[in-house]
Amino acid sequence: MNKKIAIIGGGPAGLMAAETLSAKGFDVSIFEKKPSVGRKFLMAGRGGLNLTHSEDFDGFIRKYNSKAEILSPVIRGFTPQALRDWCEGLGEKTFVGSSGRVFPESFKASPLLRAWIKRLESQGVRFMLNHDWRGWDKESLVFQAADTLVHVKSDAVLLALGGASWPRLGSDGTWLDILTDQDVEVAPLRPSNCGFFVEWSSVFSERFAGQSLKAVELSFQDKKIRGEFMMTDKGIEGGAVYALSALLREAIQNDGAAQLVLDLKPDLSAEDMHQRLQRPRRGLSMSNYLRKALNLSDVAIGLLMERPDRQKLGAYKAAQLTQIIKSYALDLQAPFSIERAISTAGGVTFESLDENFMLVNKPGVFVAGEMLDWEAPTGGYLLQASIASGVYAANGMVSWLSGR
Ligand SMILES: Cc1cc2nc3c(=O)[nH]c(=O)nc-3n(C[C@H](O)[C@H](O)[C@H](O)COP(=O)(O)OP(=O)(O)OC[C@H]3O[C@@H](n4cnc5c(N)ncnc54)[C@H](O)[C@@H]3O)c2cc1C
Repeated sequence: MNKKIAIIGGGPAGLMAAETLSAKGFDVSIFEKKPSVGRKFLMAGRGGLNLTHSEDFDGFIRKYNSKAEILSPVIRGFTPQALRDWCEGLGEKTFVGSSGRVFPESFKASPLLRAWIKRLESQGVRFMLNHDWRGWDKESLVFQAADTLVHVKSDAVLLALGGASWPRLGSDGTWLDILTDQDVEVAPLRPSNCGFFVEWSSVFSERFAGQSLKAVELSFQDKKIRGEFMMTDKGIEGGAVYALSALLREAIQNDGAAQLVLDLKPDLSAEDMHQRLQRPRRGLSMSNYLRKALNLSDVAIGLLMERPDRQKLGAYKAAQLTQIIKSYALDLQAPFSIERAISTAGGVTFESLDENFMLVNKPGVFVAGEMLDWEAPTGGYLLQASIASGVYAANGMVSWLSGR
C-alpha cells in the first residue's frame, strides 16, 4: 500500500510538497484550516505575483543573508528557472520586469492556482479543508473540523503553516506553542518587510497620509536603496522601506530607535543643489522657493517642515540647506505589527532540523516554507524559498521513508 502523507498548510510550500510527493506515488492529503488553499498566494497576486527574480545565483542567494548558506542547496534543488518552467508548465508564461523581477504574464495568481489545484487533484491529492491543526494526541495528528476533533494517522507529516503576517489569510503562528511544547526550538516571530512608526505632527499626517515619496534614496548603516515609499498616518511603509526593514528592525531592537537618512533629491548632485539654492528667494515662501528651485515634491517639503528648526530654514545658507535635503534624518520608533507585515522573520530554527528538514525531536515530521527561520526582501525571494523548501523537505521525506 502507498505510504500515507499528511501535509498541513495549503500555501505554496505545502502545495509544492504535495505535488512532489504525489508525483512519486505517495498517498497525500493536504489539511488546511481555511475553506480554500493558497489565500496568501492569491493576495500576492494582487501585486502581480512576483514569483522569483532573474539575477544570477550568487546575487540571489545573498538575499537570504545569514541563511544563504543553508538555503543554497534548497534553491539549487529548485532554481528560479525551474520555478519559471513549472509555472509555464501550468499554462502561465512568465516574463522578466524592468527590475529583474519575474511575473506571470497574466500578472495574476488565480489562473495559476486553479491550474495547480487541478494538477494536484489529477495526481490524487486530497484536500481536507476547514481542518485546523491542534497538535498531537500520542501518534495521531489532531484537527478541529467544525465541531469535531478529527484524529489522523500517517506515515509522515510535513508542516507548511506559514508565518504570522496577514493572519486573516490563515497563517497566524499558532503552531508556535504546539512546537515549543514538543521542545522544538523556534526563533521569535517578528515582522519582516514591514513599515515603521514615525511621530508625525497631526498637520503632516492629515495632509500626507496615503501619499508616496518617489525617487528618493534611503540609507541605513552601509546600505542604500533607491525607490519610493508611502506615508501613513502613523509612519512609513512600502518597497524601499521593506528593503531595509530587517536592518532597521534589528537596530530598533538593540538600540530602541533607528535613524533613516533620506536623500530627497538623489538625481541632483550636492554641487548643483548648492548652486540652485544660492538663487535669491524674492519674497517667496520657503515651500514655494524649494518647489521652484529644486522641483521638490509637496511630501518632501512637508518632511522638511516637520523639522523642529523649520522656522529657521529660510535663514540657512545654501550649504546647510543642501546638507539637510541630501541627508534628511527620519527617526523611526518601532516596526509596525507583524499582522501588517508582508512576511515573517524567525520560525523553526535550522538547528532543530536534520539535513532532510525533519525535526530532530519529532522523527517523521518535516518542515517547509515561511515557518522556517529565514527572511528575505521582497522581489520574488519569499515565494522562491517557500516553494523550493517545499520540494526540498518533500524529497527529504522520501529519503527518510526509503531508509526505514
Ligand atoms: C500582501 C502580500 C503580498 C505578497 N507578495 C509576494 C510576492 O509578490 N512575491 C513573493 O515572493 N512573496 C510575496 N508574499 C509572501 C508570500 O506570499 C509568502 O512568503 C508565501 O505565501 C509563504 O508560503 P507558505 O506556504 O510558507 O505559507 P502560507 O502561504 O502562509 O500558507 C500557510 C498555510 O497554512 C495554513 N495554516 C496555518 N495554520 C494552520 C493550522 N493550524 N491548521 C491548518 N492549516 C493552517 C494557512 O491557512 C495557509 O493556507 C506576499 C505576502 C503578502 C502578505
